[in-house]
Amino acid sequence: MSKPTLAVIGSGIAGLSAAWLLRNKYQVTLFERHATPGMGAYAVNVGTNTRTGKAVTIDIPLRVITSGYYNELFNLYQTLGVNIERTDHSGAFFTHTGADIFHYKTYTLGERRFAFLNSPKRLSKQNISQGMAAIKFFAEIKKVNLDSVTKLTFGEFLQQWPHRQSAFINDVLMPMLSTICTCDYDSVKQYPATIIIGYLACGVAKDGVWKATHGVADIVQRITQGYQVQANSHIQAIEFGDIETAPIKVIYTQDQQTKSQSQSFDHIVIATQPQHAAPLIEAVDPQLAKHFKQIKFAKSSMVVHRDDSIYPRAWQDLSPVCYSVNQDLQRPMATVCLNKSMPAVKDCLPVFQTWHPTTTIAADKTLADVTFERPVINFDTLKHIALIKNSMLKNNNRIWFCGSYLGEGIPLLEAGVQSSLFVASALGVHKPW
Ligand SMILES: Cc1cc2nc3c(=O)[nH]c(=O)nc-3n(C[C@H](O)[C@H](O)[C@H](O)COP(=O)(O)OP(=O)(O)OC[C@H]3O[C@@H](n4cnc5c(N)ncnc54)[C@H](O)[C@@H]3O)c2cc1C
Repeated sequence: MSKPTLAVIGSGIAGLSAAWLLRNKYQVTLFERHATPGMGAYAVNVGTNTRTGKAVTIDIPLRVITSGYYNELFNLYQTLGVNIERTDHSGAFFTHTGADIFHYKTYTLGERRFAFLNSPKRLSKQNISQGMAAIKFFAEIKKVNLDSVTKLTFGEFLQQWPHRQSAFINDVLMPMLSTICTCDYDSVKQYPATIIIGYLACGVAKDGVWKATHGVADIVQRITQGYQVQANSHIQAIEFGDIETAPIKVIYTQDQQTKSQSQSFDHIVIATQPQHAAPLIEAVDPQLAKHFKQIKFAKSSMVVHRDDSIYPRAWQDLSPVCYSVNQDLQRPMATVCLNKSMPAVKDCLPVFQTWHPTTTIAADKTLADVTFERPVINFDTLKHIALIKNSMLKNNNRIWFCGSYLGEGIPLLEAGVQSSLFVASALGVHKPW
């Protein structure tokens, strides 16, 4: 008997993992508007490694992960045979006028990792006091009983927390969280406290950061086996088709042509971000489309470049991730020196990845400039998310949704995999690990 057909729309981590999980039970077609699967759509060549002579490609964004928080993603990578390696994301914090705030480094001692002040040159009174505050903060945050803060936003939690006075919170913690959530400080403060505390308490400050050794291209190559990928296919709408033969019709344009085409399926998984899912389902469920429209998202830009003038000091002397903090602005500028952070880039020409540039980066030194959108979670978002999840529980459901906004916690890669595991389980496929 032939397998039921299933379309997946969108090839971020959620769509890719959904298609891969469902490939044996369903005849899967994955549609992506970009020319290559979306998870790797913005990779850029940053030149040649002078030692190996090989061209080096960098993912935008870098997609770093931490062991305590990304359980399902680690399982997925392991099952796919994706190798991971440590990457140095130690931070140097400056005011936008170049004054020191804090510098730390993640050290390795045998199997153990710990964060401490970076280099004796940085042992200023201020740095030591920020370091002590950081140690205290991460020790105390682990002790918070999450059941006692379920109704609080992260901002409300901070206001009533005994350790709220620490300068570390405004000068270091908020810039880091703003970068991790890629949204402004007010939006970070609107996150439910349990989500942010859950992230901070998972050991992220201790264990350091990992990434896929061979980047997203390697992940995509492994996770696109066993089903059909139809790139350059921009889905315009979804309609109901023949209930007996193929109930869901996907309308799309191919290769930027204006004439639309259609294909019919038994099931569809919409794995786009919520703001892109809304117009797709307008015709089949206008009430549900309204909930997608209510999910807030933040825009931000990421630039890959060779302009080291944005550093307040010689970058060779600093930790790999440099935060420029202007308390009059709602976000920091965060720059990763890729040569220092990633082994594969060590022997390339200097190259940097800057999130939210607040100063001009020279155009002739820019290799790529990409604008991203990302869901922002708050209590209102969670109400709409609950209704979207409920819509999938009805009998004979044919339209499924996944994406990092539907997982637990901050919309990171882990949440994207969680959401596809949920859909796979509802469609009769159990975790392969
Ligand atoms: C600047 C930045 C840095 C980040 N860094 C990290 C990090 O280091 N670690 C981490 O874990 N997470 C990071 N994230 C978050 C992570 O990128 C997201 O959680 C993840 O990409 C979400 O995956 P997704 O599959 O839900 O959605 P997406 O990755 O957005 O995928 C949706 C896909 O749907 C496609 N699509 C949309 N509409 C259509 C249509 N009509 N037809 C066809 N295709 C369509 C899109 O092209 C896209 O490929 C970062 C995010 C940003 C913005």
